[in-house]
Amino acid sequence: MTFEYADAPESTSVVTVKSNYRHFINGEFSAGTAGEFATINPATEEHLAHVAQGSTQDVDRAVSAAREAFTKWSAMSGSERGKYLFRIARIIQERSRELAVLETLNNGKPIRETRDVDIPLVAAHFFHYAGWADKLEYAGMGPNPAPLGVAGQVIPWNFPLLMLSWKIAPALAAGNTVVLKPAETTPLTALLFAEICQQADLPPGVVNIVTGDGSTGKALIEHSGIDKVAFTGSTEVGRQIAQAVAGTHKKVTLELGGKAANIVFDDAPVDQAIEGVVNGIFFNQGHVCCAGSRLLVQESMYDNFMELLYARVNTLRLGNPLDKNTDIGAINSAAQLAKIKELSIAGDEDGATRWTATCELPAKGFWFAPTIFTEVSQSHRIAREEIFGPVLSVMTFRTPDEAIEKANNSPFGLSAGIWTEKGSRILQVASSLRAGVVWANTFNKFDPTSPFGGYKESGYGREGGRHGLEPYLKVGA
Ligand code: NAP
Ligand code: MG
Repeated sequence: MTFEYADAPESTSVVTVKSNYRHFINGEFSAGTAGEFATINPATEEHLAHVAQGSTQDVDRAVSAAREAFTKWSAMSGSERGKYLFRIARIIQERSRELAVLETLNNGKPIRETRDVDIPLVAAHFFHYAGWADKLEYAGMGPNPAPLGVAGQVIPWNFPLLMLSWKIAPALAAGNTVVLKPAETTPLTALLFAEICQQADLPPGVVNIVTGDGSTGKALIEHSGIDKVAFTGSTEVGRQIAQAVAGTHKKVTLELGGKAANIVFDDAPVDQAIEGVVNGIFFNQGHVCCAGSRLLVQESMYDNFMELLYARVNTLRLGNPLDKNTDIGAINSAAQLAKIKELSIAGDEDGATRWTATCELPAKGFWFAPTIFTEVSQSHRIAREEIFGPVLSVMTFRTPDEAIEKANNSPFGLSAGIWTEKGSRILQVASSLRAGVVWANTFNKFDPTSPFGGYKESGYGREGGRHGLEPYLKVGA
């Protein structure tokens, strides 16, 4: 049963949403040359602000600023660079409530997540890489590690500030300067981060933020003045980027989509596994590249497990993302909602059985109720394509070999989960899975010390930890 909770809304008074936001270039906010676009709150469809649309000229100005700043920034000692990063990390902690509320307003994800997951992890990433800045020679990358130059970084909307931190913190620690383009639907926390750079007295031009749509991202990654491309987003755009930079001197990392298998064996601690499966697919409305969107349940426990799963999912609270009791927030955009609906209908048409949680959807905003498909076969689109929403596809298996084969039967290879009491089985299954991250008896755990990245169509390169420095360094020069 679900208890009635009183409303517990977080106050929005901690953050001032401005009516207009401009690019952050060379340490200052400046108008662009290509007009502006509107950004909204996806939970209410209310207008939040106008944001500058980045043109080729704006990108060019930002790259020039980053190039000029590179000379001094790269010559600075690692411990001096580290001081700036520690300062930024501390200011993020001090202003965490403001950042969390703004992220929730612009993204639609619950305040419980921005407050307890996104923003603490953002600070943790800056602290982690601040610590590396003066230890690059000990990172095991080879002799005389040196920065590459200017990094062009393009990020998606699902973890706006967290993806920014994954990109900017290692780049700066290694002595590079950056131009970053946030996603069109979620630019606001990146621009608040720009204010934090000013507050931290970061030298002008070390961090530049140019807002805009896909065309701005394209102009950035194709700019001849950058030395490194770091992209997180869809496999489709990742492919275009790989083509665009082929034959240039630019170093590339691509963090793309996923279709993770979450494998539950019949000896698994059931209550924990239920929580892990729920967290795996319904955390952040399933807008997670490593979401456990394919559940593989051992046949011998299937009926019992599914009954418990439906009961648990029915207790999830969907609604106002600013309410501290909310588990499921809004879908980030009308376009993403349309994509989720389209793939769910494909699930019906392919012959899978749809179950939907009993919850009321708010009248305004973009919403999709937690959904589970059973009787899914491996050839169904909902078993193969990334839905990037709160939709779980369930399949069964009898033996560990069958589980491994089904888990690996995917064009993606970003993450996977294993639930079992047996340590030897965890090791054996984990080493047979073609996935960059494998969680055992947990899921969606992120830590700045741990590398993250994919196999196959999930991209290449690693972010996080010591490994996350490698894409921003050249060695042996
Ligand atoms: P997307 O369309 O690929 O967009 C990602 C970013 O690229 C956005 O800033 C986007 O701008 C920009 N962009 C679009 N077209 C571009 C182009 N031709 N050249 C350069 N930049 C371009 O992906 P999305 O829909 O925003 O995000 C969802 C996808 O990201 C999912 O597939 C998900 O799995 C993946 N993802 C992967 C990871 C990971 O670490 N592996 C993490 C998060 C998300 P606009 O915002 O204007 O479209
Ligand atoms: Mg897009």
